[in-house]
Amino acid sequence: MSADGQKVAVAPCSGIGKPFGTVAREAAYELCETVCPADTVLVALGKLVLGDAAARETVSRNPVVTIDGCQRMCAAKTVKRNRGAVLHEVMVLDVFRRHRDLKPEGIAELNKAGEELARVLAGEVATIVPELKAAVAKGACHA
Ligand code: SF4
Repeated sequence: MSADGQKVAVAPCSGIGKPFGTVAREAAYELCETVCPADTVLVALGKLVLGDAAARETVSRNPVVTIDGCQRMCAAKTVKRNRGAVLHEVMVLDVFRRHRDLKPEGIAELNKAGEELARVLAGEVATIVPELKAAVAKGACHA
């Protein structure tokens, strides 16, 4: 695939049952559905885990950003196991350390601070989407 029309694949961890994991998912939705819909595509980690062919192809043919809730980095590890070109890894905990006033709480539904943290994270990743697409053109990944 050429760099033209290339999208950035965004893979959040599943994070079920943990507020930081929920922030990871919400940030990915925000990025792919609201902030950068034309330049990003969401990848469901569960599909990768199950070996879904379309999900595997998406991470192997596009530059990938992973968003993980915590140090276990489940999304980054899963994408790499599926031959994905991870060009940028984000951990919600790191973003929270820079925005201590936005403490996420709640699991099924985040509190306002958690929602804002997800928006902040999505905005930060959005600023590097053009750079990631350019990296593909320079051969920084095998997409
Ligand atoms: S990275 Fe952390 S929050 Fe996300 S699924 Fe793994 S253990 Fe859960």
